[in-house]
This record gives sequence, C-alpha cells and structure tokens, in this order.
Amino acid sequence: KERQRLDKVLAHMGYGTRKEIKKLVKERRIKVNGQIAKDPGLHVWPSHDRIEVDEEIVTYREYIYLMLNKPQGVLSATEDFHAKTVVELLDPAYTAFQPFPVGRLDKDTEGLLLLTNDGKLAHQLLSPRKHVPKTYYAVIRGTVTEADTAAFREGVVLDDGYRTMPGELKILRSGPESEIELTIYEGKFHQVKRMFEAVGKKVIYLKRLSMGPLTLDETLEPGEYRELTDEEVASLR
Ligand code: URA
Repeated sequence: KERQRLDKVLAHMGYGTRKEIKKLVKERRIKVNGQIAKDPGLHVWPSHDRIEVDEEIVTYREYIYLMLNKPQGVLSATEDFHAKTVVELLDPAYTAFQPFPVGRLDKDTEGLLLLTNDGKLAHQLLSPRKHVPKTYYAVIRGTVTEADTAAFREGVVLDDGYRTMPGELKILRSGPESEIELTIYEGKFHQVKRMFEAVGKKVIYLKRLSMGPLTLDETLEPGEYRELTDEEVASLR
C-alpha cells in the first residue's frame, strides 16, 4: 500500500474527521515512529510506520467485514433521505471505513447482510456468473406442498416472464401457514416473494440465513452485528 497522508489514515481508522485529527496533532498527541507529528499532512506508510495516538499504537487495516442481522424496517443502503439505513446501525468506528451492504434485502426482510468496504470481494459475491447460493427461511400464507418443491426444482416463471434457475425448497411445516427454507442461486428483485407468487402463495415473513459459505450467527439479535472472523473472511475468497 502506497504512502498516505497521516490525517487520512487516522480518519480511515476512526480517529475522527480531518479537522479533529489536526487538533490532535496540534495537541501533540500523535507520534510517528517515536516522533511527535507536527503536520497532519505528513506522508506515512500506513502498514509500516509506527503510528501512535495518546501512546496507543494504531494497527492499520484497509478493509472491514461485518455480519449484520438486518432488522425489519431498515433499508439496505448507505444513505436515504427518508428511511433509516443499515449503515446507520453501525458504530462510528466502523462507518469510518465506509462500508456498504453487499447486495440487498427488502425493507421488511431480516437476516444475514454482509457489509464491507472491499469492493472486489463484493463484486465477486454479487457476480451473476458465480451463482452464490443464498438460503432463506420464510413463513408462507398457503399450504406449501411437494408440488411446489418440484416446481421450484424446475424453475418457475415470474410475473415478468423470467424463468428462474432451479431452487431447492425444503418444507419445514405444511399447513394454512407453512414454514420453509429455500436456496436460490441468483438474486432477482424480490425473488423469493415472486417465486411464491408464481405458485399462488404469499411470503409473510422472510429471513436470510446464509450467503455462500457465510451463515448468520444466531446469537445476533435483529439490529446486532459483529466483525467476521479471519476464517469467515478467508472462506469468502
Ligand atoms: N427475495 C425477496 O423477495 N426479498 C429479499 O429481501 C430477498 C430475497
């Protein structure tokens, strides 16, 4: 990684705005390689130079990877004029990295949402050619039967004429209100809801359980999030 301005590096690491960092410099609270920094515009090697704020070493990293259990009523976006967004759920120490959601869940959908500032990884996960599997849990109004499992295995025709790729439907409970798990390998707009519409049923609750090798940590309540472990990050590459 190339040399960068000290204030830029510290802003990225969540130490405040450039203006706030300028103040820290003025207050002689920042050291680079043991020397008190005099200039917020000093060029540093973020991963090699020893940077300290109030005697604490700043461990530089470029990327952040967060797993969020998205709650209902929040938009999968970075900013929106009207509604609350998933990024607004995050601590400022994380938003400093400028993470964005990898793909979208509907406003009323819950569950696994990956947030990162690693554009390359996001692109790979979202590439239609990669067919990354996504598994959902849903509550359905209507009796889901093996006929639906067979239809989804063949692919169903959506309201716009698109025929879906095969999806794997597992019936957990069949009744006037059914519970299912569905795995799909593509991500058309409102896909799960529209697949059930295609067989005359309605999704009344939807939650994403997994995306590729990444599974929702069930200890996360809706609205809670955590960093991915190194193993989880490695599994996504
Ligand atoms: N399918 C849907 O219909 N909605 C989602 O949020 C995700 C998949």
